[in-house]
Amino acid sequence: MSVARRSIKLKSAEQVDKMQASADILASVFLEIRDLVRPGVTTGELDLAIEAKIRDAGCVPSFKGYQGFPASACISVNEEVVHGIPGERVLRDGDIVGIDIGLIKDGWHADSAETLTVGQIDDEADRLLRVTRECLERGIAAIEPGKRISAIGTVIEEHARSHGFSVVESLVGHGIGRNLHEDPQVPNFRCYTMPDPVMEEGLVIAIEPMINAGTKRIVTDRDEWTILTADRSLSAHYEHTVAVTADGPRVLTKRGEGVAFF
Ligand code: MG
Ligand code: MG
Repeated sequence: MSVARRSIKLKSAEQVDKMQASADILASVFLEIRDLVRPGVTTGELDLAIEAKIRDAGCVPSFKGYQGFPASACISVNEEVVHGIPGERVLRDGDIVGIDIGLIKDGWHADSAETLTVGQIDDEADRLLRVTRECLERGIAAIEPGKRISAIGTVIEEHARSHGFSVVESLVGHGIGRNLHEDPQVPNFRCYTMPDPVMEEGLVIAIEPMINAGTKRIVTDRDEWTILTADRSLSAHYEHTVAVTADGPRVLTKRGEGVAFF
């Protein structure tokens, strides 16, 4: 048994149910904040609303204070890939805005992200969002006990590339549970340098493709948090917390009964 394999914390059915309770609240936070995303609102105002909803539900934001991150949500606009710090930036018609939220309930984390539209976006941005959603859906559909983690990134990369988009490789998905980030790492591309464990029942992972319209290369902004595309092309990000069950994937953070994903 490899070191990588041993460090994965599989969850019992009872524990997955507890994570489902966290995830249900996170899904409801997303449903409630969608209407707030409109031209004229600042990312800081969105963050305050998100934190209030998390705390009103008796939960704690996973990100606030995490390695010093100053806010409850990561809010990343247009060429910002992830880890945007909410603040004074005013959303404008035609922007796309990635909102990434984690919360803790009874000691269990849930983590999810979606990229929302501000007013009317152009066709290319719309295509990027659709393809990134499809990448996540395909990655989730690749989950099956007995298959390796790399099955996920392989289908994500194929789909993104077939549409002329690129996959960010320097940031990846992750195991999740009592900690926000656990083993294994879950790359969104065909990766030969990370451990590639077999997916087992009880594995819970956050799958989070970050797809760029231009180069896959990214840079860190002067605030030392915000990740930008190196060529300032648009980037989209969707994420779900997903449990591996005997029957396949169980999407814990899906946005409601009867809703496949979002
Ligand atoms: Mg996240
Ligand atoms: Mg995550």
